[in-house]
Amino acid sequence: MRKLTEPQLLIATHNNGKLEEISALLKRFPVKIISAGEFGLPEPVETESSFIGNARIKAHFAAKTSGFPALADDSGISIDALNGAPGVYTADWAETPSGRDFTLAMTRTWNELEAINAPYPRNAQFRCTQVLAWPDGHDEVFEGIITGQIIWPMRGIQGHGYDPIFQPDGFNITFGEMDRWKKNEISHRADAFRKLIKGCFT
Ligand code: IMP
Repeated sequence: MRKLTEPQLLIATHNNGKLEEISALLKRFPVKIISAGEFGLPEPVETESSFIGNARIKAHFAAKTSGFPALADDSGISIDALNGAPGVYTADWAETPSGRDFTLAMTRTWNELEAINAPYPRNAQFRCTQVLAWPDGHDEVFEGIITGQIIWPMRGIQGHGYDPIFQPDGFNITFGEMDRWKKNEISHRADAFRKLIKGCFT
């Protein structure tokens, strides 16, 4: 496992929420965070059919273009009865001509489960892949997961995306009803980050 020994790390995301979350997590390490926006980095097209594939595209593109090690992630929700959909298309299911609409995406998710009369519990997983890539082409890959079930109707107003219809195993509340700190402790992203920090930062 290669450790990050360079003094600077580029975070290959244009999402400010993600950038802040990652910067906070890496604050205790002696590495200067550079954002993709600060560097004027364009976003590559995500052409792969897996979270790992797409995270790799983003991390390698950023590392090669900038000359710095780069960290990229890809995440989404996979539903067993839908053969893993929406998976890498999680954000696409929310796309409308006037922006992303996650109520629409959650409604589609539920309608597709109803259409095939999917058995209960309607098991699903949130997955997150983190890829740390170096300009020489080396990378380290970390995967995080949280299992749970899809519920209806939507519950809770916290979080983002599909949180109101995802109830993690061991809880009787959805991510949408859960305190942010609790979600950040148990989430797929937290799981991937714990592995990344253990592998490359300590
Ligand atoms: P990306 O990793 O930025 O491509 O995000 C993929 C999509 O997955 C997001 O648009 C969200 O809809 C969804 N997603 C990823 N993580 C979460 C989460 O923790 N809660 C709810 N939705 C999520």
